[in-house]
Amino acid sequence: MRINLLGENNNKANALTVFVVTALFCFIGGHLRMPQELSLFWPVNALLAGMIVRFPFLHRSGIYLISYLAMVLNDLVFSGWASQSFTINFANIIFIFIVASLLIKHSMPVVGLRRPGKALQIFPACLLGSLLSATWGTLAEGATIGENFLPVWSDWVSEQFSTGVLLLPFLLTLPARFSLHLSSYRLKKLLPAVAVMVSIIAAALIDGAGSLTFPLPALIWCAIVYPITVTSLITLITGVTEIVLVVNGVMNIQGNDELLAMSYLVSARLGIATVAISPLIVAVSMDAILQLNKQLALRANYDFLTRLLSRSGMYEQLRQMDDSAPGNLHSAGVMLVDIDYFKAINDSFGHDSGDAVLEEIASRMRSVIGDQGMLCRFGGEEFVVVFFNHERAALFQIAEQIRHAIIMRKFLLQGNTVGITVSIGIASKTRPETNRVETVNALISAADKRLYHSKRNGRNQTSPLVETESEQPL
Ligand code: GH3
Ligand code: MG
Ligand code: MG
Repeated sequence: MRINLLGENNNKANALTVFVVTALFCFIGGHLRMPQELSLFWPVNALLAGMIVRFPFLHRSGIYLISYLAMVLNDLVFSGWASQSFTINFANIIFIFIVASLLIKHSMPVVGLRRPGKALQIFPACLLGSLLSATWGTLAEGATIGENFLPVWSDWVSEQFSTGVLLLPFLLTLPARFSLHLSSYRLKKLLPAVAVMVSIIAAALIDGAGSLTFPLPALIWCAIVYPITVTSLITLITGVTEIVLVVNGVMNIQGNDELLAMSYLVSARLGIATVAISPLIVAVSMDAILQLNKQLALRANYDFLTRLLSRSGMYEQLRQMDDSAPGNLHSAGVMLVDIDYFKAINDSFGHDSGDAVLEEIASRMRSVIGDQGMLCRFGGEEFVVVFFNHERAALFQIAEQIRHAIIMRKFLLQGNTVGITVSIGIASKTRPETNRVETVNALISAADKRLYHSKRNGRNQTSPLVETESEQPL
């Protein structure tokens, strides 16, 4: 059974989910309070902002109101605050609203954030959100300018900012369907994560102001090796761990044994938030490079005009087949198909008509071959079809089907009905001793000789292997 917790047209479910998430995380945040009555982490704001950016249909006044009511209710029940909870919680809504508005406006959720420039927008959005929310929150707490305003305000800013920049990259890059292939995480791949752990331990042992940045190289290593969501998660865990260690004095960043002054925690939070930006930039850049590589490979491996495999794409697939299933084949066959007098079509009807003929012939060949063989535009007006484990007689039949599919329906070129034919050469080999790439290479040369034979004999025909050749087609 599938329960939809959120849905574009499901207002009740949306309201209920937002209410429960807000109340739950306010409760958790409330229990992470330090002695000074300030919350160490207040994850609810970043969490709700992330939810709204991912599901922009939540960006509505009613949803903000529900969330606000859940916050107030949590405080009335658990904090014992009365009227103050109405004013203080408005600061949280300011943060959520500003961050969500800015990120929805500037980036398509998830997809957009996978570009370095877009991901960086998390930082200014969180900064503006925390500055404004902190100002309201500090005044609502009753702090007065000139007295205790600055320490309270800086605590608000640093807490909101650090939680935002640690949580949001993870929330916004989390795929809709998250499946972690543990088997693909070999031991060697765990090294960057182990390095992060070691650097945190080293930071806790060595102490001092510089210790906060110790995990940075290991985090950048993670960004190079892992997907962006995993890197964001490791950065989040590292940041939270550092804040907890600093607060508990395990990581002594002030260099003496005095109780941690509030200003040190503010500085630590801001430092950790700043450190978090670097792995994110590297991770997003790596992601962009990988996407670009994929696109380039796709362009090189497929022919733009006919959308068939290109010559390099065909060899790439053969190489992959050799890697994934090495060993001897039962048989291999190659068919070389060349359009007859194609130059004359270009000369008479123009290059565009020539292109249209190539597209149409590719499409007719595709429907004849289906998934029986690998069809590729080998170059110009020449196509190659590769078959594995097919009977020789079947190859001849398929070749003839292709030839007929092209003759049967004439082509309409600039108002003229034109009959077009192809010549075909076939070569095959049973139990080839070489791998697929080498076998196909040798078969293409042999098929080319048979194609030449078809051309010389008057074109519009398939040259089968003659009996003597069938013994030794290569
Ligand atoms: P034959 O029957 O001997 O094969 O003669 P042909 O005219 O088909 O062969 P030839 O090799 O003399 O000419 C092939 C032509 O194919 C020349 C080239 O301009 C044209 N050609 C190659 N690629 C493309 C393409 O992508 N689009 C178009 N329109 N023409 C192309
Ligand atoms: Mg030709
Ligand atoms: Mg040719």
